[in-house]
Amino acid sequence: MLSTSEIGIDLGTANILVYSKNKGIAYNEPSVVAIDTDTKNVLAVGQEAKEMIGKTPGKIVAIRPLKDGVIADFDVTTQMLQHILKKASKKMGLSIRKPNVVVCAPSGSTSVERRAIHDAVRNAGAKKITLIEEPVAAAIGSGLPVDEPVANVVVDIGGGTTEVAIISFGGIVACHSIRIGGDRLDDDIIQHVRKVYNVLIGERTAENIKMGIGYALVDHEELTMDIRGRDLVTGLPKTVTLSSYEVRNALKESLLHILEAIRATLEDCPAELSGDIVDRGVILTGGGALMKGMEEWLSEEIFVPVHLAPSPLESVAIGTGKALQYINKLQTAVK
Ligand code: ADP
Ligand code: MG
Repeated sequence: MLSTSEIGIDLGTANILVYSKNKGIAYNEPSVVAIDTDTKNVLAVGQEAKEMIGKTPGKIVAIRPLKDGVIADFDVTTQMLQHILKKASKKMGLSIRKPNVVVCAPSGSTSVERRAIHDAVRNAGAKKITLIEEPVAAAIGSGLPVDEPVANVVVDIGGGTTEVAIISFGGIVACHSIRIGGDRLDDDIIQHVRKVYNVLIGERTAENIKMGIGYALVDHEELTMDIRGRDLVTGLPKTVTLSSYEVRNALKESLLHILEAIRATLEDCPAELSGDIVDRGVILTGGGALMKGMEEWLSEEIFVPVHLAPSPLESVAIGTGKALQYINKLQTAVK
């Protein structure tokens, strides 16, 4: 059981969450840090830093220290975690100087990448650190019975990665992890607008377009959205009206890669568990699961029921927080 000094951290590429069993979600903000490049001081972390992306003067940069689900900048990640642990413990109303932390690692990460996650959390002030497989955390947090001998299939579409895993009896039986997720979809939109309209838009605008009029590959009533960017020819601001059909087209290739990863995992499923999947279906989680039409599109393509997790953006955090009660049955990623 978790005591108050034991917390779960979802160290996501897009969002970081801290979960404690008593207090629930104690921190939930974007994985962004604003840094003064002269002094290397951290100026802001989380939502405040995200607001700064692409808008700061030269010597202040807003960066995302996690890329593709793993740590890209170790020192900044450590500083960010220090800040987060401080803020989360204040929210939880206690001074946990040295909490025990359960943190997850993407199933596709290497041992060096896992070591970096472990060390960053330790340097940020944690006492005991347990790494667990991210898809297992996602499954626990989605309410699946991961410790039973049945096939639990999770598809987690995050910012940097999509992870697909079949979990049975506390362990991963089959999984595929690809470094394509919500960030890639944003980039697809940036490229499309640049190519077709000669207009440059930023990451945040692209994400707003994706959330506003982005659809998986399903029929739908056309939506439009006016967006602003910089005309690459004149250098001046320009407004363009985008249609959800053209956005869907721009996202097509990346979405098909995600589908391919799901298919490949299902093909790796041991025959005895295949029947379970037909009955129990697939659980969709991670922020990308919230894209319009995603459930419908995937269930049409893979011919098994697809269910949205109860809270897709929180599944992994809840799962890491609750993992300790399963830990004896789980295969932990780093002993
Ligand atoms: P990570 O685990 O990598 O931190 P999350 O699970 O928090 O990622 O998901 C973040 C991703 O989900 C981002 O790329 C974000 O743009 C995307 N996302 C969030 N809400 C939506 C939505 N309604 N439609 C499409 N994408 C969304
Ligand atoms: Mg995630």
